[in-house]
Amino acid sequence: MHPNEPILETKGLTKAFHGFTAVAGVDLRVRRGDIHALIGPNGAGKTTCFNLLTRFIAPSAGAILFKGRDITGLPPARVARRGLVRSFQISAVFPDLTVLENVRIGLQRASTGHYCFWRSARSLRALDGRAREHLEQVGLQDMAHARAASLPYGRKRALELATTLAMDPEVMLLDEPTQGMGHEDIQRVTDLIKTVSTGRTVLMVEHNMAVVSRIADRITVLQRGSVLAEGDYASIAANPDVVAAYMGSTDVDSTDVGSTVADSADAGAGAKEAR
Ligand code: ADP
Ligand code: MG
Repeated sequence: MHPNEPILETKGLTKAFHGFTAVAGVDLRVRRGDIHALIGPNGAGKTTCFNLLTRFIAPSAGAILFKGRDITGLPPARVARRGLVRSFQISAVFPDLTVLENVRIGLQRASTGHYCFWRSARSLRALDGRAREHLEQVGLQDMAHARAASLPYGRKRALELATTLAMDPEVMLLDEPTQGMGHEDIQRVTDLIKTVSTGRTVLMVEHNMAVVSRIADRITVLQRGSVLAEGDYASIAANPDVVAAYMGSTDVDSTDVGSTVADSADAGAGAKEAR
């Protein structure tokens, strides 16, 4: 497979809820090695699209291809074993286990497809070295023996990232990784995503345009269930249709995003005038 061929692709992906079409014929192409962001105003269909990709819900029409193979009808666990893994599911972290134990379980899952409670203490210790490597990657090496529940919010998300890395995913699907975070955590998690994306592909739904502008190689903008625009950050921010889509939305979150896009677009226009 060539580097620029899509590793993950949708064709005419569609989801209707009781006659309302939330995702309408989306053709998405995620290139191998990219950090690809899915953005759009509230109600655009981002979450629905994400849930379709992670096989959490079934499409009404269309297909999902992973490494050129149709995975539309495959159950999530099979898809995960093939290398398409969803991260940031709080439920994936066991609160009463330590940080190290949580990553170890991720490693066991990757090797056996499930978690065996009866594994010997010795075979578990054999996994510790690799578990510690993943903790180092996300900066949690000093918290290996802390209970997962005791971690601050941003660190919990770093732990989720470490448990996902333990699955050695080719493609990581991240659902609003910086949601609900303060400025410092946003910076840290953004850097982390960039770090752990080396040698992998990331598709992320993200509200925060500062995050998108910093790390996304490619951006797809959804509006009312359809693809409105696709490109790098500069082309998206300068696209009048994208700016209009954000300006037209009424929720506070998207208005923030919209003003960021609009500001960037103004800056782009200003630069053009200056030339
Ligand atoms: P986004 O994540 O971009 O804000 P969503 O994918 O959550 O958008 O929703 C897209 C549209 O689909 C919205 O109008 C929403 O109300 C509708 N929708 C989402 N899930 C359901 C559902 N389970 N049943 C009915 N309508 C839904
Ligand atoms: Mg959503």
